[in-house]
Amino acid sequence: MSRKVSGPEIERVVQLLARLPGLGPRSARKAALTLLKRRNELLLPLSEALATAAEKVVACSVCGNLDTVSPCSLCQDPRRDRSLIVVVEEIGDLWALERAGVVGGLYHVLGGHLSPLDGVGPDQLNIAGLIERARTDEVTEILLALNATVEGQSTAHYLTEQLAGADVVVSRLAQGVPIGGELDYLDEGTLAAAIKSRRRL
Ligand code: ZN
Repeated sequence: MSRKVSGPEIERVVQLLARLPGLGPRSARKAALTLLKRRNELLLPLSEALATAAEKVVACSVCGNLDTVSPCSLCQDPRRDRSLIVVVEEIGDLWALERAGVVGGLYHVLGGHLSPLDGVGPDQLNIAGLIERARTDEVTEILLALNATVEGQSTAHYLTEQLAGADVVVSRLAQGVPIGGELDYLDEGTLAAAIKSRRRL
C-alpha cells in the first residue's frame, strides 16, 4: 500500500483530473500540483472558468454543438449556407472543421457512431433530428463527414438509407481521409481537400 501524502481535498482534485482523456493518475497528480503551486495565475482563473462554463454552456437544440446560446451561434449565423448540413460524429469533429474554415454550411452532431456491440443503436444517436432537418425545404445537401473507421462508415451507410426518402443529395468525404482516420486529428489542409473532393452517393 502506498501511503497517502496529501489530504482528501487534493486527492479529490487528482481523482477528477485523472478521468480526463490522456491523463493517467501520474499526470493528474502532476497537473494538480502545478495548479496548486500556481494558485493565482492558474488555479483560481481555471476554477472560475470551469464554474462559468458549467453554468452557461448548453447543447444546441438544432445541431448539438456546445455554446452559451441555443440555437448556437453557428446555427444563428445569417452568413452560413442553410442548404448544406455537414454531419459529424462528435463536437470535436465540428470544431476541427470550423478551425479549418472549410464549411460554409451548417452542422449536425450525431453524438457518436452506431456500435451494436456497445449498445449504441439509432435511438442513442441524434438521427431523428437529422432526418427532420433534411426534410425541410431549405436543405438540399447532407454531407456525411464521418470518421473513416468501420463504425463511421457503417453509420454513413445507415444514414444514407434513412435519408433516401428526403429530397436531398447525400454526399461523403472522398479523398484525403486515411482509413481509420478520425477527423479531429487531421490537419486543416487535409480537411479542406476532403470537403472539396466530396462525392455524391
Ligand atoms: Zn447549433
